[in-house]
Amino acid sequence: MEKEYTMACITGKKRNIVLKRDKFKCQYCGSKNNKNDLVIDHIYPKSKNGSNDLDNLITSCIKCNCKKNDHSLSDFKSIIKEQYAQHYDEIVYLRKVIKNLDKIIILKNSTSSK
Ligand SMILES: [Zn+2]
Repeated sequence: MEKEYTMACITGKKRNIVLKRDKFKCQYCGSKNNKNDLVIDHIYPKSKNGSNDLDNLITSCIKCNCKKNDHSLSDFKSIIKEQYAQHYDEIVYLRKVIKNLDKIIILKNSTSSK
């Protein structure tokens, strides 16, 4: 994954053009990062012969870039949706446990305290 990124790395003048065009914001998650924390992503992956043309380049944060890796946009969307579903289930679970722990703590406190 790391190697892929280095190989596909866009630097110099082209990088600055894309960063400026995208207002130094990750176009996937919208986070505005330090210039050094942004990378230039190939929308259509370089590993699948995606071009270095400006319309195939997009500003991305490192996190999004790692998640997208060499996937197409639609595959990237599927990955994000899957992760969202997994995290959503986890959050629902955690919320239930917190709620129940509150009940148990209250119960234990009222029975153990004199
Ligand atoms: Zn991002």
